[in-house]
Amino acid sequence: MIVLRGISKTYGRTTALDDLDLEVREGEFFCLLGPSGAGKTTTLKTVAGLEQPDSGTVELDGKDMNGVEPYDRGVAMCFESYALYPHKSAYDNLASPLRSPRHRLPAVQARERIGETAELLGISALLDRPVGQLSNGQRQRVALGRVLVRPARAFLLDEPLSHLDAKLRQQMRAELKAIGAVRRTTTLYVTHDSVEALALGDRIGVIRDGRIVQTGTREEIWYRPYDTEVARAFGRPRINLLPGAVAPDGGFRSADGEVELPIGAQASCGTQVLIGVRPRDLTLGEGPGHELTGTVYVTEVLGRSVEVTVRLGEQHVSLVAPRGDATGLRPDDPVRLSVRPENLLLFEADRPERPGRRIGP
Ligand code: ADP
Ligand code: MG
Repeated sequence: MIVLRGISKTYGRTTALDDLDLEVREGEFFCLLGPSGAGKTTTLKTVAGLEQPDSGTVELDGKDMNGVEPYDRGVAMCFESYALYPHKSAYDNLASPLRSPRHRLPAVQARERIGETAELLGISALLDRPVGQLSNGQRQRVALGRVLVRPARAFLLDEPLSHLDAKLRQQMRAELKAIGAVRRTTTLYVTHDSVEALALGDRIGVIRDGRIVQTGTREEIWYRPYDTEVARAFGRPRINLLPGAVAPDGGFRSADGEVELPIGAQASCGTQVLIGVRPRDLTLGEGPGHELTGTVYVTEVLGRSVEVTVRLGEQHVSLVAPRGDATGLRPDDPVRLSVRPENLLLFEADRPERPGRRIGP
């Protein structure tokens, strides 16, 4: 278990971490998601003991790590900029963690463990090659192997798939998930890729400007995003956010008056809001729930489905429909849309310094 409480860290005038709280449960695969510069790497280094926080505490398995050297924390960390021995073979790179006094294994067991890890990562055929001759993606897998090869109290992984091409990344994602399930080692996994976070995380923590904005399961983050920025971070095409205000009857009324939705808002009349609906939650044609009418703006085929952009007054919304439902649609065709009330999200309007918080349902 990893517990961070009130961690702050500044570098000169830059605040990397700002009173950050985080809890990774025993055996959990936790994804820390955030854009570049959000403080992800600093968080990992703080857990590993490679950076000292200005304030706050780090606990591992209930023990305060203050003053405990990185080596004695029992965590295995894989950096974004992986440190490998370029002249040594992939095998020797994997073997070196098993030669440290702490984790020394008898040769036979070490070989077994290395073979197993290499197999898992699809690098068995590369073991004799010097790491300096491998591609970036192959090196990244060796670096990951160095972390996974030895037992640890926790794995700390810093964007370990970022140098892989899309296909390999997808394959490795599935493998990592399997490793996590088998080993049940507490893992703190850092990424800026929301698809990766949704695929891998038992829970996800969204980090922004050195603070945790929201922590939850993928369902919680998807259906109950803390604010518009979290809502925008997940899902492609992106969530539709229509600006408007709360009407006297508690309904939503778009700024141009073209869209009205009965939402039973708890906010007072006139409150500036954004109504959110994900493209896959808008149905073409009649359906259960609220109805909207508009005209087709543009359609784009996405494999078996079609993204349809619909003009509603001055606004556009996009929806994803099965290909069969959207055949024959042309620009300016009138269309009806429906949305279930439970798929509508209500946010305060964005402000320059703060994305709008979710205020309903
Ligand atoms: P992330 O990993 O999410 O991209 P980092 O934790 O690396 O973010 O960095 C958070 C902030 O702290 C950034 O603004 C970064 O420029 C700054 N920072 C990180 N490490 C250092 C350092 N050693 N010296 C100065 N600034 C740093
Ligand atoms: Mg980083």
